[in-house]
Amino acid sequence: AIGGRRVLVTGGAGFIGSALCRRLVAREGCETLNFDKLTYAASLDSLAPVAHDRHYRLSVSDICDRAALDAAFADFRPEIVFHLAAESHVDRSIDGPEAFIETNVVGTQRLLAAALQYWRGLPVAARDAFRFVHVSTDEVYGSLGPTGCFTEQSPYRPSSPYAASKAASDHLALAWHATYGLPVIVSNCSNNYGPCQFPEKLIPHMIIRALAGDTLPVYGSGENVRDWLHVEDHVAALIAVATGGRAGEKYNIGGHQERRNIDVVGAVCDALDRLQPLAAGSYRDRIAFVSDRPGHDFRYAIDPAKAEAEIGWRSTIGFDAGIDLTVRWYLDNQGWWRNILSGGYRAERLGHSA
Ligand code: NAD
Repeated sequence: AIGGRRVLVTGGAGFIGSALCRRLVAREGCETLNFDKLTYAASLDSLAPVAHDRHYRLSVSDICDRAALDAAFADFRPEIVFHLAAESHVDRSIDGPEAFIETNVVGTQRLLAAALQYWRGLPVAARDAFRFVHVSTDEVYGSLGPTGCFTEQSPYRPSSPYAASKAASDHLALAWHATYGLPVIVSNCSNNYGPCQFPEKLIPHMIIRALAGDTLPVYGSGENVRDWLHVEDHVAALIAVATGGRAGEKYNIGGHQERRNIDVVGAVCDALDRLQPLAAGSYRDRIAFVSDRPGHDFRYAIDPAKAEAEIGWRSTIGFDAGIDLTVRWYLDNQGWWRNILSGGYRAERLGHSA
C-alpha cells in the first residue's frame, strides 16, 4: 500500500496530477509534494480540497531547473516519484513544438538525473523500495488500423510532435533503468476524461461550447477512434503500478472503452439533453464537421492485460456512466472553468510564484 509514504508528484496542478494529489492526500494519507511550474494548463482551484492539508505542499518550480529538483529531493526525501509534468495538448504541439521538447524531453532527462543522484545516496533497503513512475500515453505507439490493440511490445511510431516528445521521454526513462539501475516504471495510458480537465480538450471543449450555444466542431468525419478512461481509474492504476509493478517494466493502462469521436460528442450531447435540456431540439443538432487535424491518427486501443494480470488493476467506471459524471461535474462547477476562460485563474496564482 502507498498509505503514509512520501510522494513527489510533478505536474500535480494539471488534470491528472491534481486528481492524483487529491487522492494521495485525502484518501491515502501520503505526504505529497506537488512540483509544478504552473503553466497555462495548471489550475490551483483543482487542488482546493487539499491545499490546506498538512500532508500537502506545493513547490512552484520547473522540471528543467536542476537546482530546484535537487533541493526538492534533498528536502522532501521522496519514496515514490510520479512524473506527470508535461506539455500535453496535441494541437499546441503542432503550432509550437519547442516547449514540448524542452519540458517533455529535456525536463524528463533533468528529473531522471536528479532522481538518480538522490537514489544513489539512499540506504540499500530504501533504494530497493524506491519507484519512479513515468506517466505516458498510448499516442507513442502511433495509429492502429480497424482491428488489434497496443501491447507493451508494440513498436513506437509517434505521429505528432507531442507523441514524439513523449516517446523520447519513455526511452530516456527506461534507459535510466537499464543503464543506471534507477527503479523506473513506464505507464502508457489511453485518453483520459473527467473533472478538472482543461477546457481545450475534446470533452470539456464540447460541454462548454454546448452550454454557450456554439456549434460542436468535430475533426474530419468523426470516425477517428480513441480508447477512453476516467481519470479516477487512471490514478488508481498509477498507485497500483507504483506499489505492485516491477521496476524496468512498461504497463499499458486502459479500460476497454473504444469510441469514435463522433460517438463521444454524441454521448456528451445525450447527457446534456438529459441534464440541461434545450427548449427545443437536441444538442446533437449543433455538431459541425471541420477540416481534419494534420497527421491525425486513425485509431488507438489499449490492451491492459498485463496490468490486469500482474498488478490486479481494473477500470471501474464505464464510458456512459463516466460521461454522465463528467457532464454533471462541468454543470455543477462552472466557476472552475469560467475562471480559466476569463484568465482569472492565472492572476490568482501570482502570490504562489513570487
Ligand atoms: P495537463 O496539461 O493537464 O497538466 C500538465 C501539468 O504539468 C500542468 O500543471 C503544468 O503546469 C505542469 N508542467 C508543464 N511543464 C512543466 C515544467 N516544465 N515543470 C513543471 N511542471 C510543468 O496534463 P494531463 O492531461 O494532466 O497529463 C499529465 C501527464 O499524463 C502528461 O505527462 C501526459 O503526457 C500524460 N497522459 C495524459 C493523458 C490524457 O488523456 N490527458 C493520457 C495519458 C497520459
